[in-house]
Amino acid sequence: MGLDKFFNPQSVAIVGASAKKGKVGYETLISMTGAGYEGKIFPVNPNAQTIEGLKCYPDLVSIGEIPDLVIIIVPAKTVPAVMQQCAKVGAKAVIIITAGFKEIGQEGRALEDQVIQIAKQAQIRLLGPNCLGVIVPANKLNASFGGNLPHAGAIGYLSQSGALLAAILDMANANGIGFSKLVSIGNKADIGELEVINALGADPDTKVIAGYLESITEGDVFVRKTEQISHEKPILLIKSGGTSAGAKAASSHTGSLAGGETAYECVFERAGIIRCSSIKQQFGYAQAFAYQPLPAGRSVAVITNAGGAGIMAADAIEQQGLTFAKLADETIKKLAAKLPLAANLYNPVDILGDALPDRYEYALDVVLDDRNVNTILVLLTPQAMTDSAATAEAVVRIARQKTAKPILACFLGSGKVADAMKILREGKIPYYDSPESAVAAITAMADYVRWRSRPKRVVKLFPVNRRKAENIIDRHLRQGIREIVEADSKEILEAYGFVTPKGAIATTAEQAANIAEQLGYPVVLKIWSPDILHKSDVGGVKVGLTSAREVMDAFDLMMYRIPKQVPNANIMGVLVQEMCKKGKEVILGMNRDPHFGPLMMFGMGGTMVEVLKDVSFYLAPLTAEEAKEMLINTRTYKILTGVRGEEGVDIDAVAEGLQRLSQLAMEFPQIQEVDINPYVVGPEGTVPVAVDARISVEKV
Ligand code: ADP
Ligand code: MG
Repeated sequence: MGLDKFFNPQSVAIVGASAKKGKVGYETLISMTGAGYEGKIFPVNPNAQTIEGLKCYPDLVSIGEIPDLVIIIVPAKTVPAVMQQCAKVGAKAVIIITAGFKEIGQEGRALEDQVIQIAKQAQIRLLGPNCLGVIVPANKLNASFGGNLPHAGAIGYLSQSGALLAAILDMANANGIGFSKLVSIGNKADIGELEVINALGADPDTKVIAGYLESITEGDVFVRKTEQISHEKPILLIKSGGTSAGAKAASSHTGSLAGGETAYECVFERAGIIRCSSIKQQFGYAQAFAYQPLPAGRSVAVITNAGGAGIMAADAIEQQGLTFAKLADETIKKLAAKLPLAANLYNPVDILGDALPDRYEYALDVVLDDRNVNTILVLLTPQAMTDSAATAEAVVRIARQKTAKPILACFLGSGKVADAMKILREGKIPYYDSPESAVAAITAMADYVRWRSRPKRVVKLFPVNRRKAENIIDRHLRQGIREIVEADSKEILEAYGFVTPKGAIATTAEQAANIAEQLGYPVVLKIWSPDILHKSDVGGVKVGLTSAREVMDAFDLMMYRIPKQVPNANIMGVLVQEMCKKGKEVILGMNRDPHFGPLMMFGMGGTMVEVLKDVSFYLAPLTAEEAKEMLINTRTYKILTGVRGEEGVDIDAVAEGLQRLSQLAMEFPQIQEVDINPYVVGPEGTVPVAVDARISVEKV
């Protein structure tokens, strides 16, 4: 059935309908009748004969037919009894508006469980509880107490907060914004965000999906599904409230660098979801997507009657990573033919303060034809001569004739441009109150276009020794060890194709010297203890040792000093390791989010990683392109490509390391965190070395 009965019911019962003004049971009934709903409405209330002229029923059973949709507004304690009635009469779609369930604590949760149980048994689909309801303007359905029925339009909205939806409705009604569907999901006892997003994805009336979410329930399915839907329609989400993995205490660099928001950022990036930081921004974007075609590229032309506004737009275009369109000679020629001498013919095209609508119309028409231009922003400030309303009409007229490229407007001011805004709104030209917010909407569109046209994701699978890694992990889990020390971590990594420095473990100074002799100098000595995670912090790393004498001294010194510094640490010995060739130190990491899975990290490594915080994250599994993108997304990427005559590093080799680590993380859900730090990388053609590694595991 999908959500059809919620969106297009032929009959609606309102259990708890009331004749008292101000009560939810009254407001909901009025919403339904006021919207001009054409199906049947059955108010249910044992204490009334009629409400608002409609025959009232004592209970659901006495209606004598099965209502397509039942809205429940009775007090929480009586909701289970009403649900039983729903089951009895065979109702299949129920909205529980009543609050006082899971959100109030233990008692409410028990009540909600009871409701869920009844719904499951009777195969009733449930929206809420603790929600505002459903609104479908095209069907004149206002099954809510949120306010007046908005216009029909192309935006489908879902909200986890009912109260916020009421505010959105008010704002939208004041600005003439139209909706295909508005759905309040409340406590998500049954129908959750994903099902609604899915339904909006399949809904031909919905061009843009927008929503407000506080939590995401089925993380991995959410990613997969929304990624599919994003290819068809843009999804614009505000995500507020609780962080995802934030609560878990992390012991790795990667874990502590991954903030609570990181998982959501990764998920949205992967799924092509456009994240919005405010309702205003969201609707600014939504209107651009709903009313205008998508731009073919990132170049923008600006037409303005004010130099200052033009510069503000130009700055925003640069800052937000769009390009400033270079107008073709022919365009310039055409502009020169009709514009005043003092006009600026180059982008931003300044048609001067005395520009009348005809000048705007001409310039817009000419610039739209320029093939170097993907999007046009029309700026206006209301000056003495300006006729903003007629200019708005001119913009609308041209936009109707030439529909291939997006046109956005920013008419600055308030009272003097009020009429113009109304005309723009009716003419489906999205308008903004600042050049920056207009440019932000263009950026959102251009980014979406880029996301959609990225190459198909192909995740490479490397041949690995999975069994070997499994044995090491299992052994640790059997012994109840969660932190795998450097030597064992490296064995796991070797099984996945990583190169690590040669070395061996020693428990005495003589043994350490022997190993060093075999490895050849210089060597590195590192403390070996499951209780010491960051070895240099306690003087547990000594590099550049060039003789047996130095090795033995370093050994003795560590054994003397470290137990004093970390009295409870169980010290097993040292790791004697060959010294690696010099290179850049980067970090490859993984931190598993309990909902969304492995978050991969790349950054500038070494012991300063948490000070520099120059890292980027991406959701596993990684494609080659994504792995490379992670490198590009760090501030210091330039250093990796080589600056000031210094040779760059083998970027592809680093990206491959990230992909191998991503494969390891995907194949072993037991692995919670990984730090490969440093991963030492040299010039092109050299093999990077995992100089240090730590992996933490957990039984799953
Ligand atoms: P920890 O991170 O636990 O302090 P590391 O093994 O990462 O210990 O060592 C700290 C630093 O010492 C590294 O960032 C690297 O600069 C240097 N180092 C460690 N091992 C080697 C090695 N085998 N070759 C070269 N340099 C090394
Ligand atoms: Mg390290």
